This record gives sequence, structure tokens and C-alpha cells, in this order.
Amino acid sequence: MRLILMGPPGSGKGTQAERLVGILGIPHISTGDMFRKAIDEETELGLEAKEYISSGGLVPDEVTIGIVKDRLGESDCNNGFLLDGFPRTAAQAEALDGILEDLRVGLDAVINIQVSEGELLKRLTGRRICRGCGTSYHMVYNPSKQGDRCDKCQGELFQRKDDTEETILSRLDVYNQQTKPLIQYYEKQEIIQHVDGNQGIEEVFSEINWGLGRDQQ
Ligand code: ADP
Ligand code: AMP
Repeated sequence: MRLILMGPPGSGKGTQAERLVGILGIPHISTGDMFRKAIDEETELGLEAKEYISSGGLVPDEVTIGIVKDRLGESDCNNGFLLDGFPRTAAQAEALDGILEDLRVGLDAVINIQVSEGELLKRLTGRRICRGCGTSYHMVYNPSKQGDRCDKCQGELFQRKDDTEETILSRLDVYNQQTKPLIQYYEKQEIIQHVDGNQGIEEVFSEINWGLGRDQQ
């Protein structure tokens, strides 16, 4: 399956992506994760992306489109992929259409997770990430059983630098101005499915599976 998970920051894309790729056996392609890895490794891409990410802005389209094009050309994407956090602009959505055309494949679905702004703020300020495996926790809604260590790999949990209230508000602004209009773009293509993301993690997962025509897992 070739899927896009859309939704504002904090809507649960990463959380649901992790569960979905587990059952679908396809790679999880998160541009945010790719940039954070590059920043940790201090690569050229990381140095370029760092300022944009820490201010809550978007990394320029040509850079982002380039890394996604390369990634989708890798052999593990031959049988499908799940894109998380891409596309985020009209130019990225149009470029993705071109990349898929070149690969002679199409999208199966765009899943749009909808969550109210007040809830997003609570989710993002309470989010904690595992330094080892990247699993996303929430201090209240989805805590690790081991406090500040990851249940899966014992890695240390940390708070993303861009999960401060000020940067979150900028990111939500950027989402509303640049990414939200893509809902219409995919409505025109008649492949978008809206999911109520205000529910609990398992309920959202069930609704996504139902939309994909899969039995509840
Ligand atoms: P995104 O990838 O869209 O930015 P995440 O998947 O990282 O969002 O989720 C943001 C935060 O909200 C995380 O701390 C996660 O544990 C928590 N979370 C995700 N989905 C839900 C949900 N349905 N209900 C409550 N908390 C959730
Ligand atoms: P995320 O992990 O999806 O919340 O993304 C974290 C940050 O990475 C964003 O706030 C942007 O600065 C950057 N980023 C991730 N994906 C993209 C994208 N598709 N286009 C531009 N910037 C991106």
C-alpha cells in the first residue's frame, strides 16, 4: 500500500504510523525523523535543516523534495510506503505526483487525522521521544511504564526542542497556512479519508483500518 498520513503537528501521525507499518510491512518515511537524524549526525542536510526546524518553519521545498525522491527510489519502497509529514506544501504535493508518475505507481489513500487545537497543544507539550528507537510517548496519555526510559528499548526519553509552547504555536500557524490547503488538493483527487483524531490511540487506529477496508487489528 502507498499511503500518506496527514494532520497537524501532534495529531498522532507518528503514533499511528508506527502501528500501521507494523501490520502492513511497509517502510515509515517521516521527513521530520530524517531531518532530526541528519541534525544528530551533523551532516550537510542537518546543518541546513536545523535553523528552520528550531524556529518551527519549514525546510525549503527543494531540499525536502530531494530527500523524499531519493528515499522513494530505494528498493524497500517497491511494495509500498507510508509518508508521514510529507507533503506539507502545494509544491511538495505536486512534486510527489510527478515522482509517483515517474515510478509508475499511485497512492492508495491519504489519511487526514483531525484534532482540535487545544488538544494538539496538550499533546505536543507532553510528548516525549525515545532517543534509541524514536517511539513517541505522552507523559499523561501514553506514558512509558518505566518513567523516563523506553518500554521497547530502554532508551532515554527526551523532549523535542521544537515542542515548546512558542514554537508549537508557530508550527500550527505554518500548518494552517501551508499544509491544511492540501486537504482540498487530495479531496479533488478523491483519495482522502478523514479520521477523528480526538479519540484514544486505539480508537483512531481502528478507524484508520476500517477506512482502509481492513478488519480491526
Ligand atoms: P505527530 O507525529 O502527528 O506530530 P505524535 O504521534 O508524535 O504526533 O503524537 C503527539 C503526542 O500525542 C505524543 O505524545 C503521543 O503519544 C500523543 N498521542 C498520539 N495520539 C494520541 C491520541 N489519540 N490520544 C492521546 N494522545 C495521543
Ligand atoms: P515533524 O517531525 O513532522 O513534526 O517535523 C518537524 C519539523 O521538520 C517541521 O516543523 C519542519 O521544520 C521540518 N519538516 C518535516 N517535514 C517537512 C516537510 N515535508 N517540509 C518542510 N519541512 C519539514
